[in-house]
This record gives sequence, structure tokens and C-alpha cells, in this order.
Amino acid sequence: MNRPYLLLTPGPLTTSDTVKAAMLRDWCTWDKDYNGLVQSIRARLVRLATASPEPYTAVLMQGSGSFSVESVIGTVIPKDGKLLVLTNGAYGNRIVQMASVYGISTSVLNFGETDSVTAAAVEDRLLADPSITHVAMVHCETTTGMLNPIADVSAVVQRYNKVFIMDAMSSFGGIPMDVKELGIDYLISSANKCIQGVPGFGFVIARTEALLACKGQARSLSLDLYDQWEVMEKGGGKWRFTSPTHVVRAFDQALVELEDEGGITVRYQRYKANQKLLAEGMAQLGFCALLPKELHSPIITSFYYPLSDRFSFEVLYEKLKAAGFVIYPGKISTADTFRIGNIGEIYKEDIVKLLQVINNEIFW
Ligand SMILES: *Cc1c(COP(=O)(O)O)cnc(C)c1O
Repeated sequence: MNRPYLLLTPGPLTTSDTVKAAMLRDWCTWDKDYNGLVQSIRARLVRLATASPEPYTAVLMQGSGSFSVESVIGTVIPKDGKLLVLTNGAYGNRIVQMASVYGISTSVLNFGETDSVTAAAVEDRLLADPSITHVAMVHCETTTGMLNPIADVSAVVQRYNKVFIMDAMSSFGGIPMDVKELGIDYLISSANKCIQGVPGFGFVIARTEALLACKGQARSLSLDLYDQWEVMEKGGGKWRFTSPTHVVRAFDQALVELEDEGGITVRYQRYKANQKLLAEGMAQLGFCALLPKELHSPIITSFYYPLSDRFSFEVLYEKLKAAGFVIYPGKISTADTFRIGNIGEIYKEDIVKLLQVINNEIFW
């Protein structure tokens, strides 16, 4: 199929030909075949999120991943609630911004761009401010590739009995996790990340009892998570407004392929091996990673620009693109970096080839 380059950008990311081919059919949104497909996707998502699916439900939401994050932030915090946001990058900061737009009372713990979130700091803040009702954090901060310690933070959040919101956008489906064990009330991800679908909708895995308490609370009509859930649940897979039918069909195929690969654990191993090969190969080519190895995620890695006046990211980008790879600019304010993602239909041979191409193209 037509594949001018591999996307090393998470995401959209490189999808399989069969996922793309699944879109070559039009579906009626209210027909029972399509609604049945939606219901099956919701059930499979919950099973991917936990070994104890009964207390959980899944809601699909139109738009990019941020729309789903915003639907949670705008819906689940009551008027008299207060949100603590743990941030160490652009996606954590985006949650702060969403809360600000909605006028939600917010406390922010900012760890900077290159330090991990710590459970101790979270505990200090929760102790100091008992009015906090909800805690939100990002699992893999795609800004840098930082993997935040959700199990440590979860232990504190559960001990203090707060509602836990997890932006697992770039990690769900690629890193094993169990929302029940982690005490996560709302986990957010989207079609075009580790499940390896195409962009067009996001989804929320919610603890049903928590969501049931949110009726009438949303600060937005289109992004009302409760209403979206109620219509899907009562309508047997109906979407409130026009659904991205082709994208949903492609997502169903992507779920089948995740299962065929061996599930999340096997995909995690592939991503981890890709990332290790990439980070080690880049180090051999003289690139320094932004973060120490123990903070790397198996999703995306940030590298400093080489210390040479002759280096230009734009030139490297164009050379790699011509050779069949698209990489990602950096997204932090304190240093010149670029990022290379390794999720999607990306295998060891692709990383080997990328490293060879970079080696051949060194111009600095
Ligand atoms: C991709 C991503 C999002 C959502 O970004 P969109 O551009 O709205 O899809 C949110 N959080 C994280 C951590 C992400 O990686």
C-alpha cells in the first residue's frame, strides 16, 4: 500500500494496511450492525483496562484525545470540588488550562520538564489542602517521553480517597496497567496511539459508580461525558452526535490486531525493544538523550541537538523524510531537542534502518 514514510510520531502513527483497508466501507450510524460493533469495542476496551471489568464502563468520544480529556475535566468535578494537577510537561499543563477555562478550582504541582512526578510531593500537597477532591496526572508525558510512576502516586491517591484521573493517552494499549489495581476512576486514551488505529475519537474507561454521580454536572454540551455515556449505554451503542464511523471500524480492526499480536504484554515487549535499540543506537551515533535512562518510556524518546553549529533539525528532518522516516520536533522550552517515537506498526528492522540512515546522513 501507499506508504511514503513511516511515522515515528506518536500519533497519528503508522498503521497496518489492514487497519487502513477497514475504512473502505460506509456504515449507517444507527443500524444495529454498527451499534453492535460499538458495544463490542466498549466491552473489549474495559477488558484491556482491567482483569476485573464489572465496575467499569467505556465511553467513546468524538475528536482528538484532548477532547476526551476535556470531557472528563469538564464533567466529573462538581462545583464545590477542587482538582490537583500533577504536571511535568505540555499535556499536564493542558489539563491545567482546561480547568482554568471552565473556572474549576485548581491546585498545581509542577515538577518541571525533566523531573518525574513523586508520590511524596503529592502526599504533602494532599495533606496541606484537604479541600482537594480530584487528582489528575499524565502517565507517559509525550512532551519528553517521561514515564511517570503511576503505581506510587496511585497508592497515595487511594490512601487519601481522592478521585483519580489518568491521561494514559500515549501509553494505554502499549504498557500493561490495571485501572482497578491502580484505583483509577477515569482513564483517558485515544484511537491513534498504542491501539494503533487512525485519529478521530478518544475514549474514557470510567468507574461506573463514579460516572453515575456526574449527571447534569458538565460545563459543556458536546463534551458532556455523562450524556455521551448514557446515550451509548441506553441506546445500545448509539452515539449522541454523528460518529466517526470509518475510524471506529478501523479501530475494531486495530483491536483484533492487538489481540493477534498477543495482547498488551507482547506489544509492550516490542515497543520496549524498539526503544532500547533506538536509544542505544542514537547514543552510539553521539546523541545524548534528554532524560536519564530510568525515566524513559517505551513510547518516545527525546534527544538533544548535537553540539555543532552545522547541525540543523530542519535539514535532518528533510533528509530522513526523503529516506522514509518522519521524526518529531522537540516540545520543551529549556533545551533544543527532537523526539523519535517508536510505537505503531514499527519493528526492529525499521529502527535498524533508521539508525543506518542517520549514520549515513551525518552532516554536522
Ligand atoms: C496525544 C496526547 C494527548 C492528546 O493529544 P491530541 O492532539 O488532542 O490527540 C493528550 N495527552 C497525551 C499524554 C498525549 O500523548
